[in-house]
Amino acid sequence: MELKGLMRHEPLAELHFHLGQSVEPHILWAIAHEQGIKLPSKSYDEYFDFVTLNKPDITWDDYHKLFHLTELIQSSPIAMERAVYEVISGAYRVSNITLMEPSFNPMFRNRQGERDLDSIILAALRGMERALVEFPVVRAGIIFSLDRRLPREHNEIIVKKAIKYKNRGVVGIDIAGPAAEAFRYEEYVDLYERARSEGLKTTVHTGEDGDAAEMRHVLKTLPVDRINHGFRAYTEPDLMDEIIKRNLTLCLCPSSNLRIGFARDTEHFKEIVRTLYDRGVKICFNTDSPSMLRTNLPKELAFVRDHNILSETEIAQTTKWAFDASFIDRSTPGNLYL
Ligand SMILES: [Zn+2]
Repeated sequence: MELKGLMRHEPLAELHFHLGQSVEPHILWAIAHEQGIKLPSKSYDEYFDFVTLNKPDITWDDYHKLFHLTELIQSSPIAMERAVYEVISGAYRVSNITLMEPSFNPMFRNRQGERDLDSIILAALRGMERALVEFPVVRAGIIFSLDRRLPREHNEIIVKKAIKYKNRGVVGIDIAGPAAEAFRYEEYVDLYERARSEGLKTTVHTGEDGDAAEMRHVLKTLPVDRINHGFRAYTEPDLMDEIIKRNLTLCLCPSSNLRIGFARDTEHFKEIVRTLYDRGVKICFNTDSPSMLRTNLPKELAFVRDHNILSETEIAQTTKWAFDASFIDRSTPGNLYL
């Protein structure tokens, strides 16, 4: 397939992908063995099918179960340094991504407090620095994910760590994870405001598994600079207008939405994208879980182009919006990578 104009020729930006699902399976396999972690299978082929969810229909539940295994494998300083290094350097080498913001939850990588959180975070930052020394054209910043399943006090610790390491390459915070009974966005307003007052940026997973009402509530409640997914807004003109008014960019993930089933089929996804784009909502494309979904950003863009969802000119516009919506700010004090 000809990818001219989308691959080596054009630098790309990716703002929404999770470290847990971004490390290539063979690297994760090696890291697991180095650490003596018991895997679900001793056969590499079976393991590969497991970590890439290689079966016809995957569910939201399958998706989050898999996160658990990859997070366990990444739960040591050695594993984290290598994981972050491989993801950043690989994204540049394979996809010419010159600006990227991988996210992860440090609290899911310290084996319930057995490992020191700072050691895990510093290892991740060291992995990023190694990749950036090798490829100085790349700019990268890490986003810390809070999780709906964690108690607020644990999420607060993650925000404090993000603030602590803001001058080392942590650029923002996010909320991810499946809906949880006890979770209330209202309880996160002060944490989001604190993060922003410290110069960090904020995003949130919304308008994906939740409906448009959930997304409307999030936008009303939390001070956010960008949105992960958010495609549910396409049925709600007032919500789209609010997104435009607040100059927010939606970080969409075609393969992820289609494989998990949030978008029914390609036609449905096209309807979503065209409605948002034609209304004037800024969108950009991302992989969410590239290693698990066996995808990368050029493949996602080729999908959008080849199914006539957007034209090449329109895709180039979304790439520009991705660069514009980056949390890596040249005015951020102490950012080593600018
Ligand atoms: Zn995501």
